[in-house]
Amino acid sequence: MESFRHQRAAGSLKREISRILIEEISDPAVVGVYVTKVELSPDKQSARVLISSLENDSMRDPPEDSVRALQHASGFIQRSLSARLRMRNVPRLRFEQDRGKQAEDRVEMLLKRIQKRSRKGGGALILLCLALATSARADPGLARFESATDVMGSEFRIACYAPSLAQAAGAVTAAFDEVRRIDAFLSNYNPDSELSRINREAHDRAVKISAEMSDLLSACKRYHRLSDGAFDITIGALVETWGFFRGNGKIPNWWSPWLARRKVGSQYLEVDGANQTVRFLRGGLSLDPGGIGKGYAVDKASVVLREYGIEQALISAGTSSIYALGSPPDSKGGWPVNIRDPSGKSDAVAEVQLIDKSLSTSGSDEKYFEVDGKRYPHIIDPRTGHPSEGMRSVSVVSARTIDSEAWATAIFVNGANWARNHRPEIAQVFLCPADEACGWIE
Ligand code: ADP
Ligand code: MG
Repeated sequence: MESFRHQRAAGSLKREISRILIEEISDPAVVGVYVTKVELSPDKQSARVLISSLENDSMRDPPEDSVRALQHASGFIQRSLSARLRMRNVPRLRFEQDRGKQAEDRVEMLLKRIQKRSRKGGGALILLCLALATSARADPGLARFESATDVMGSEFRIACYAPSLAQAAGAVTAAFDEVRRIDAFLSNYNPDSELSRINREAHDRAVKISAEMSDLLSACKRYHRLSDGAFDITIGALVETWGFFRGNGKIPNWWSPWLARRKVGSQYLEVDGANQTVRFLRGGLSLDPGGIGKGYAVDKASVVLREYGIEQALISAGTSSIYALGSPPDSKGGWPVNIRDPSGKSDAVAEVQLIDKSLSTSGSDEKYFEVDGKRYPHIIDPRTGHPSEGMRSVSVVSARTIDSEAWATAIFVNGANWARNHRPEIAQVFLCPADEACGWIE
């Protein structure tokens, strides 16, 4: 497996080559071409740069002359890379068509067309990467690009505006790569992730972790403290007991939640930021990233888009975690986003306009099971060991998606009264309690 540093070096090369193509190369043969992948050799002496092409609303193989033009310019690109990355030994670049990517895009375009024809979406289809490209109506100088990919058990979707489709496509591909990297690092379904390794090993001893994991777990401990224990990244044992891990939920034996509750508690999660280690102080603890991962990934994707020069984008993970970068060209007040009606009676209970802000929603209509007319949502109160009652949905607006994500879950658990008395300063909160009308908290 490639080391983290190796991946990061390839990522930096990809980002800078993408920028050079946009900012420094004016050869008409290269218009519409973007970088899909950079493969760095183990000794870092050479790199394969895979390129794809996008023009208007159709995709095409980058013609031979694009590849030839880039190969011809490779000396210039290497020198520019050397200056941008402050690297003396820049790898030799070999440009090639990304045929795999092309094939994938085409399949997805076809899928999209089939879906349109049959009217009904069927989002569960294996939509790996569907790309739509249209020109922005409001600003002829900007191109609109939209693409989606299935990752973290959700559909991640990015709509963005950029001076060229190629720039947008390069940025979105890189943002999706970042989301996949976070999934590989954070998933509790993937035994190779850093989080799964912690779940296996931190019972016996302090386990060395990455700086990124250390920061994330420390943030989770902070949400736990500020929410009076409602948000708990160590909720794993309870999620499993209620059948929500690899399942759609079930009522357990009456004593199981009581037993599982003893295996939950962020106060038993010891994170040593200075030495970058983590240790479980209680047996059976299990980290569950479900309440934080998507928000964290959305924020990271927004950082990548910015690095690629994108200033106007809407990023969503499922329908519950959204970040709005800048505002769209035709709506200077921000990206209009609906807050879904949890009763299903109407499309929306409120609309917000977001600029450099996130919106996350936790709802009992997202993932739940029903027995004898009673609904059991997948959000569990760690203090009772039972699925949380009392709220239909909680939506939170804040500058960072990780914050809105964690607070939506925490407030769902703590309920309307707690929220009215403890609303976090960094957030605006919209509540739909089970027995009251929906509304903003003052
Ligand atoms: P969604 O996945 O729809 O965005 P949430 O953001 O509310 O919903 O996250 C729910 C998920 O978070 C659950 O599936 C579970 O993995 C995890 N979870 C459940 N209860 C808690 C809790 N009290 N604190 C932290 N995470 C939780
Ligand atoms: Mg969420």
